[in-house]
Amino acid sequence: MTAKKSVLIVAQDDGGRLDPVVFDTVTAAKRLTGGAQGGVAAVLTGPPGTQALAEELWATGVADVYVAEHAALAEPRADSHARAVAVAVRQARPSLVLVGQTLLGRDLAPYLAARMDAGVIMNATELRLDASGATEVVCPIYGGGVQAVYRVSESPPSVVGFQRTVKSTAERVSHSRGRVIPVDPGLGGFKDKVKLVERSARSGPRLEEANVVVSGGMGLGEAKNYRYIEELAEVLGGLPGASRAICDLGWAARARQVGLTGTRVFPNLYMAVGIAGASQHLAGMSTSKVIVAVNTDTKAPIFKYARYGVTLDCVEFLPAFIAECRKLKSHS
Ligand SMILES: Cc1cc2nc3c(=O)[nH]c(=O)nc-3n(C[C@H](O)[C@H](O)[C@H](O)COP(=O)(O)OP(=O)(O)OC[C@H]3O[C@@H](n4cnc5c(N)ncnc54)[C@H](O)[C@@H]3O)c2cc1C
Repeated sequence: MTAKKSVLIVAQDDGGRLDPVVFDTVTAAKRLTGGAQGGVAAVLTGPPGTQALAEELWATGVADVYVAEHAALAEPRADSHARAVAVAVRQARPSLVLVGQTLLGRDLAPYLAARMDAGVIMNATELRLDASGATEVVCPIYGGGVQAVYRVSESPPSVVGFQRTVKSTAERVSHSRGRVIPVDPGLGGFKDKVKLVERSARSGPRLEEANVVVSGGMGLGEAKNYRYIEELAEVLGGLPGASRAICDLGWAARARQVGLTGTRVFPNLYMAVGIAGASQHLAGMSTSKVIVAVNTDTKAPIFKYARYGVTLDCVEFLPAFIAECRKLKSHS
């Protein structure tokens, strides 16, 4: 008989709310455990007051929430948070630990695994059971072109970093209050080896939440043409994105980069302008509902994914298209 699966989710906050990736991890964990009672628990780590986020977890149907509160957990630093989570893991004894890949999560997962003397797998997109009931973790590799499937050990539980694959939202499935299980993070006298030099606050709308993304690539020819991308994004009520190649050149800010090593986006409309469609770019946008490609090369890989294609010089196309969109908008 297959041993009962249990997953402990490392739930992270995002400015006073749960980070959206937490909802993806809850969905994946429920699928793995088959919705078994008590199969999915979560741990919250943060400064005093963090416990308030337990409400959001209970609403997703996660009943048991381990909470470690300490002033040293106010900053999103991997070492202190991994120490606190490791204590919760010892209490909860799950068969798998799931960490959403936020900035903190990416750092925390390997720290935690080292602390637990366990294995770590990053970039997972799916958890499933094989025919014998063993847990398998699915991860896209080589820029998303191939899927790797790992069969994981449960003792000690493996640590799995999970990435966003869909634009999920918090779905309330439960109205009952669950349990808060206090955790002593054991951080008395803790001294972080990392010094915070500068904090760069994210402000304004987020690329990963946008319904329309217009991205520019090397086909723009020169830095100043990126302004057309910004203008079109604004006219369409969306946000501008970019390929890594133009971020490397400084034509667009790094925060605009879409792809494997940039932001994953989930818009209804994605316009790829002068972008070839390398697998690393596709890894960040191929789940967009409608993809429109503007590229002079009819054999560019992006056209395999695009529903609509334009094979004109983008520097000529963009000003005319922006003007047309403005006209249509003024008539509506
Ligand atoms: C580990 C790793 C991680 C990476 N992560 C990312 C990532 O997160 N995001 C990412 O984007 N890339 C990433 N890359 C880089 C990726 O492999 C490509 O090099 C990059 O996406 C290419 O950008 P591009 O399409 O703008 O440029 P190019 O490959 O140079 O393509 C430009 C395209 O523009 C077209 N074009 C040229 N002139 C015009 C014109 N006048 N009008 C219209 N079209 C025109 C060309 O036909 C061509 O298809 C990564 C690479 C590695 C190795």
